[in-house]
Amino acid sequence: MMYPKKCCSAVVLLIITVFMGGVLPAHAWDYPKPDPEQDVKDISFYRGPDDNNKITNIGASRPANVILLIGDGMSFNHVALARHRAVGADGRLYMERMPVTGMVRTYSADRLVTDSAAAATALACGIKTNNGRIGTAPDGTPWISILEKANAKGFRTGLVATSSISHATPAGFAAHVESRDMQVEIAAQLLERRVGILFGGGRKFWVPTPRGERKDNRNLIEEALGAGYQVVLNREQLSRLSDGPVVGLFADDRMTTFAPEPMLDEMTRVAIGLLSKKGDWFAPKPRFFVMIEGSQIDWAAHANATDNTIRQTLLFDLAVKEALEFAERDKTTLVIVTADHETGGLLIKADKREPVAEWHSTDHTGGDVPIFAYGPGSTFFSGTHDNTQIPKRIARLLGFDDFPAPMKAASEQTVK
Ligand SMILES: [Zn+2]
Repeated sequence: MMYPKKCCSAVVLLIITVFMGGVLPAHAWDYPKPDPEQDVKDISFYRGPDDNNKITNIGASRPANVILLIGDGMSFNHVALARHRAVGADGRLYMERMPVTGMVRTYSADRLVTDSAAAATALACGIKTNNGRIGTAPDGTPWISILEKANAKGFRTGLVATSSISHATPAGFAAHVESRDMQVEIAAQLLERRVGILFGGGRKFWVPTPRGERKDNRNLIEEALGAGYQVVLNREQLSRLSDGPVVGLFADDRMTTFAPEPMLDEMTRVAIGLLSKKGDWFAPKPRFFVMIEGSQIDWAAHANATDNTIRQTLLFDLAVKEALEFAERDKTTLVIVTADHETGGLLIKADKREPVAEWHSTDHTGGDVPIFAYGPGSTFFSGTHDNTQIPKRIARLLGFDDFPAPMKAASEQTVK
């Protein structure tokens, strides 16, 4: 069942009444059963680029749109290992076809080794903070994110992840709390910030107990419908979307990254399609900013699970492919691919020509991570950077002044 925005008001009222009364039919909450044939070794879904050359870059003018893709925990060797397995030592992943490359420092305010919350805050708000914090400085001051700045400037915005959508990385772009664990609060803030596209897992943080985790008795799905959002819960509903705003919650917690759930590249394709399409939601002549996260590279690497690390990196690379194909057609979109930190202390050894992963940690490490860029303004991402410089450069390219900055102006707090 799907909840279209533009149906007659009686139907909307009925749906809202059903939600409010807590008598939503049980089947509406049931996700399809996972495909029993789940094999993390199977990477047959991945087909590498036909063209092994770098993409020719687009001239130096300013971008209209920005697509920022973050591979959580994905450092140089995660990319290299996936390359060896999927396209061979001489091949390229899609992200490796991007013409501009650099490296990014990842330390946080209180640790040389960051977590995803402090790293997301750096990549979103342009400030160093302590591990665990979301969108707030070590003293607790909330700082505006590049997504919120874009929102305030009339851009459409989106967040896409394979974790819960209230997890640390997406949270850093549209929430301000002292701890990443406050996913109930973060989910409410994502909606209140009027992010136009929210695709991921984590429905349990949107609905009250006993069905969900909310003890404040708020039903954010009902609130989203009331605010004009469509709400979709599965791949088929996702594929039928023709405009936004939309909340897509495809799992109760993390996504499985297996059928019948939508894959990250499918969510990416739909998100970019909706954000770029002319229409009357949020901004009639759309420019957009979207952050897309391959959330589970990190988790596979924490578990030192080599096959799944490769699989998750390739799933993420297909999302990069979608972004690049759009940007090559559009010609006004800057695509940036980077990571928040390294996970697993991954080294690549070899058995003759076969790569052998050697893991040195079950946690994050403090090395630099890669950055790849393509499109107008991409040359500003060449070389070495601190992670806080990434959103500052995006802000400058999009013509945003006063960034980074604490959230103080009321106009920024009530973004349209
Ligand atoms: Zn991690």
